[in-house]
Amino acid sequence: MPANDARTIWASKRPVVLRREGRVRVRLPYAADNRDWLRSDRRNKPEWISDGGYWELPKAWFSGLVDSALIRYGEVWIIQPYREKEICAPACMNAVGHECECSCMGANHGMGVEGRWYEVSEALAVRWGERTLAVRHLKAAALKAGWLAAMSDDDDA
Ligand SMILES: [Zn+2]
Repeated sequence: MPANDARTIWASKRPVVLRREGRVRVRLPYAADNRDWLRSDRRNKPEWISDGGYWELPKAWFSGLVDSALIRYGEVWIIQPYREKEICAPACMNAVGHECECSCMGANHGMGVEGRWYEVSEALAVRWGERTLAVRHLKAAALKAGWLAAMSDDDDA
């Protein structure tokens, strides 16, 4: 299976966040508490789209969701729009959230933020039908692995 096909990544059993127009879509490895975990203490509920096999969430949840997924799984894939001609600039390198549509495809995103606790292990352009999107694979930094494990233990309690 070509890894440069967004649908292959979307169809995998990995935690994947798809951010395009409209609401955010997310696929997670199955767990009975996924709905509660996604909702956290928010008032709105994530919506399960059963014929697509994914969750739909408000756009505003995107960056928080990526952080939570890094803590829960230690890694997450992001599929997002990609603007080839948008030059990567300090606004991207110093960004705190995870929204990135620039030509670096997320590779440099947040690099300038001191104490960044995740790494971008891969950033590539992928096909989705006629369109090109960007995929990023984020991993929680190894340094913080113990701290991350402690945090997810707390969640289970
Ligand atoms: Zn950039």
